[in-house]
Amino acid sequence: MQKKALVTGGSGGIGSAICRTLARDGYYVFVNYSRSKEKAETLAEEIGGEAVFFDLTDSTSIKKAISGIGRLDLLVNNAGVSEINLFTHISDEIAQRILSTNLSGAMCAARCVLPAMINEKSGCIINISSMWGEVGASCEVDYSASKAGLIGFTKALAKETAPSGIRVNCVSPGFIMTEMNKRFSDEDLELIREDIPLGIFGEPRHIADAVSFLASPAAEYITGQVLAVNGGMVI
Ligand code: NAP
Repeated sequence: MQKKALVTGGSGGIGSAICRTLARDGYYVFVNYSRSKEKAETLAEEIGGEAVFFDLTDSTSIKKAISGIGRLDLLVNNAGVSEINLFTHISDEIAQRILSTNLSGAMCAARCVLPAMINEKSGCIINISSMWGEVGASCEVDYSASKAGLIGFTKALAKETAPSGIRVNCVSPGFIMTEMNKRFSDEDLELIREDIPLGIFGEPRHIADAVSFLASPAAEYITGQVLAVNGGMVI
């Protein structure tokens, strides 16, 4: 039977690379979107998968969509939002949006897929955190907190679900060229590049390859880990 994967934020830069790579690996891929319906539908058509709407800030929307999908072999919690500003200038509304999209939405999605995985005694969850979740970023405090939360979530859930044959891991990207980073000026980008020991920005495929590895039998003895894919920017 064909394996099934759900990728949240599958319509985005890193998410679409993950969807394509998982389709190449033989998965039937559910491409989640909240606003980018057309992008998700075009991608789903290209890879022979399915576009699925749900909004990670709305747990009712998540539960309804995932119950319609049925049993999954793999959940990739990839969707995320960020906001660059001083901590004291972030409104309650934006802070809430960052935390619910990046952390509580991911936890809710995992809670929805787990009962069927536990029943089958197999499954895999991969959370996309960030190097800022490991070391913290000035002017991205809420984002860093949400991504650090995903790391704690990964470790705790890995311990709880390992006896049920489920692996939970995290990929922690460095600076990856996507829409999320289009706001930086050329000057800023050059300064950031100088901080990357390998001297180049990451590409979405670098994260997709890490997800593909962690989901594969080659990683069958790996759980609760954070795989940093950052060109050496955080060591
Ligand atoms: P992106 O291109 O901006 O994509 C973000 C994705 O998140 C979009 O598909 C978007 O879908 C989805 N999303 C946002 N709000 C959502 C919501 N409420 N419900 C469902 N989906 C929602 O960003 P990206 O660079 O690919 O980032 C992907 C992940 O990697 C994020 O978690 C990000 O924090 C992490 N990351 C990125 C970098 C980087 O340098 N790019 C570095 C470290 C970590 P819609 O457009 O359909 O709403």
